[in-house]
Amino acid sequence: MRERLQSYTTFRLGGPCCELVTAGREEDVREQVRAWNARGISWRVMGGGSNLLVADAGLTEAVLRVVDEAPVCSLEFQADGSVHLAASAGTGLDAAACFAVEEGLEGLESASGIPGTVGGGVCGNAGAFGWQVGETAAAVQVLTREGGLRVVAGEDAGFGYRVSRFQQSGDVLLKAWFRVRPAVSRSALREKREEILALRREKHPDWRVQRTAGSFFKNLPPVAAGGRRVAAGGLLEAIGAKRMREGGAYVYEKHANILMAGEGATAADVDQLARRLADAVEGRFRVRLEREVRTWP
Ligand SMILES: Cc1cc2nc3c(=O)[nH]c(=O)nc-3n(C[C@H](O)[C@H](O)[C@H](O)COP(=O)(O)OP(=O)(O)OC[C@H]3O[C@@H](n4cnc5c(N)ncnc54)[C@H](O)[C@@H]3O)c2cc1C
Repeated sequence: MRERLQSYTTFRLGGPCCELVTAGREEDVREQVRAWNARGISWRVMGGGSNLLVADAGLTEAVLRVVDEAPVCSLEFQADGSVHLAASAGTGLDAAACFAVEEGLEGLESASGIPGTVGGGVCGNAGAFGWQVGETAAAVQVLTREGGLRVVAGEDAGFGYRVSRFQQSGDVLLKAWFRVRPAVSRSALREKREEILALRREKHPDWRVQRTAGSFFKNLPPVAAGGRRVAAGGLLEAIGAKRMREGGAYVYEKHANILMAGEGATAADVDQLARRLADAVEGRFRVRLEREVRTWP
């Protein structure tokens, strides 16, 4: 039977795909890509499914789910005395942040509590509290669509606000190296992580229980050069987003940029609600909100 992607996305939405394979280890990922390429099967790659809205009708392609059951993290000491934290793409981003904190190393703590994998975080340049993955990523190992292995330096990864070149290339991320450094105080670092986790619990829905993919739209570019991005949530709040629904899809009561899939919701409901929200913002403010959540197909 064809597996349904709803079992693997935090929206718990998404129809069947032609084949679904979960692999974390480099050899397994390479072997799977080689096999699909040899059979002429088109494929896509996903991680934790926490930034995806997959159509109810599903996909014609196969899906490679790069997820490791347990974190695969290690420390690598550089010739210049600096330290890199190496993590497999299938490691949870939060698990990598936790590993760094427990080692007394700072650099990744702002990723605490971000759902999904290291691969997904690097691909979308995930971030929070003014920090983005790309600032800390020293290098990334990728498997190209054709099956070749390459290491891409962080400065060549095309990181920008919620973008990287990997979104276009379709390369499979296998591993990332993050720049970390010894913290002055391990207990202060632990406290920072706990504070972040507490803040997130207060502001965000718990994706383990509620069906969501976090912020649906990207924030807008700053009005003045060097300024802060304009929060999409503020514009959505102003158009009354929290009162809008579409079938089973609705807007989170604590944050107008977070879309939720309630009882009976379909991916089409979420997609339609997102369209109506973006139209309403455009009608009022003359700006088009861009989706942060990736829509498949
Ligand atoms: C409650 C909640 C809170 C959130 N908070 C934040 C936040 O604070 N900041 C933030 O930035 N995001 C946030 N998100 C969104 C999401 O967690 C991030 O975007 C996350 O980095 C996605 O990782 P993933 O592994 O789930 O990727 P997926 O959703 O599986 O995939 C997302 C994209 O990455 C690609 N991808 C995934 N893995 C790989 C790989 N190994 N190789 C190549 N491409 C890959 C996929 O093709 C897809 O295009 C939140 C989501 C939820 C549900």
